[in-house]
Amino acid sequence: MRIMVIGLGYVGLVAVAGLAKAGYQITGVDINIKKINSLNNGKIDIYEPGLKEVIDEARLNQRISFKNIAEIKNIDCGIVIICVGTPSRPDGAADLSQVEYTIEWIKERTINSLTIIMKSTVPPGTGELLYKKYLAGFSYKINYISNPEFLREGQALKDWFYPDRIVIGGNNNKAIEEVSALYDSLNARIVKLDITSAELIKYAANAFLATKISFINEIACLCDCLGADINSVATGIGLDNRIGEGFLKAGIGYGGSCFPKDVRALNFLSTINGHNFELLRATIIVNSRQRLLPVQKLRSYLGNLVNKNIAVLGLTFKPGTDDIRESPSLDIIRLLLDEGANVSIYDPIRKNLNINLFRKDQIRFGKNILDTVKGTEAVVVATEWDQFIDTNWSEIKIVMNEPFLIVDGRNCLDPCIINNCGFIYSGIGRAKAH
Ligand code: NAD
Repeated sequence: MRIMVIGLGYVGLVAVAGLAKAGYQITGVDINIKKINSLNNGKIDIYEPGLKEVIDEARLNQRISFKNIAEIKNIDCGIVIICVGTPSRPDGAADLSQVEYTIEWIKERTINSLTIIMKSTVPPGTGELLYKKYLAGFSYKINYISNPEFLREGQALKDWFYPDRIVIGGNNNKAIEEVSALYDSLNARIVKLDITSAELIKYAANAFLATKISFINEIACLCDCLGADINSVATGIGLDNRIGEGFLKAGIGYGGSCFPKDVRALNFLSTINGHNFELLRATIIVNSRQRLLPVQKLRSYLGNLVNKNIAVLGLTFKPGTDDIRESPSLDIIRLLLDEGANVSIYDPIRKNLNINLFRKDQIRFGKNILDTVKGTEAVVVATEWDQFIDTNWSEIKIVMNEPFLIVDGRNCLDPCIINNCGFIYSGIGRAKAH
């Protein structure tokens, strides 16, 4: 069976890889010509462990082709999967312009009946609305299926091949079964339901996880007040099966291309539907506050930050990805620059920034950790890359200046090791470790 995947970012490329591996013939389509050229030259413009190998194998087996949207005159395959972006609008709502453009684009080119699978994250109610707006009564029968994606960047392939569940929402049983069959090769539990409920599962899951993070961050603040250690507290909580160990890591908060925008979109959707989702608002407020904490801590140890030299280790919103969208690290860097500090940066994967965002003269990219921390008074660990955890902190101390401050924004370092090396250690909710 031939399938078209539209939008070749993190989600689209993983879908291409996963479905090609399952034996389907895939055409991957994107609006970005540079992306298509690089894919056709065997390169992948995102960092996702293992993805290149699966794509290379599919290419070798002639299961995939990549095309720019302008090259597609007709769509004659039975299934089209939409994986385009749904970023935030300034008012917090999901911007559905890429999705709507894509649906119109499909309609103009389809030459047979087909099933549209929506993998992009769209707010509850969108599928029904899109169907009424664009697809009902169209000359070819078009089924609409909501099939939200739950992959995590950095382990996206594992999540594709071993999902906790697959959610398929539709209003036509035949189409639901057709889409379920795509996943026959996976040993996964499939949840079949209506479109709006499927859409809400995605938002509720992300909102719940984000809330868990903000909750543990609130407990971390209490730890600072009470002299307790949040890492030990989180372990003790997480061992309760009803709670679970995941998403209990206190720190500078969640970021990335999903949680922040999806939580904002759910908040917007709630408000516009007359529900004041207070818990979700608190989640957002706490998360915004967390990224200010490193700057507060730096100030409390260094006084004003004008001309202070500060190293920021980590740019990506989490390890294992090159994605810096809504990364707390960027906000911290911005704040440090506002305060007049000189900032040196190092990330194992991400080697550049959209430099227009920053005051160029106050930023330096280090070649490695040692080069980055050289001559700095303080280091902020903003992403918990293994490289930072495993680094030889005694060597780091030699090239730094007083007061040798380490602000561990991810609570990923061992305070004893750091203190024994002669640093001041300051984590989030680790008052006991000071
Ligand atoms: P992305 O920004 O990495 O990729 C989107 C791709 O769509 C880009 O390559 C872009 O060029 C392309 N595109 C935009 N308009 C197009 C058009 N009209 N025709 C063809 N291509 C077009 O986004 P992503 O991270 O892959 O996310 C895609 C969707 O999946 C979003 O709704 C997101 O919320 C959701 N999602 C993302 C993740 C994640 O971890 N990244 C996880 C689950 C769900």
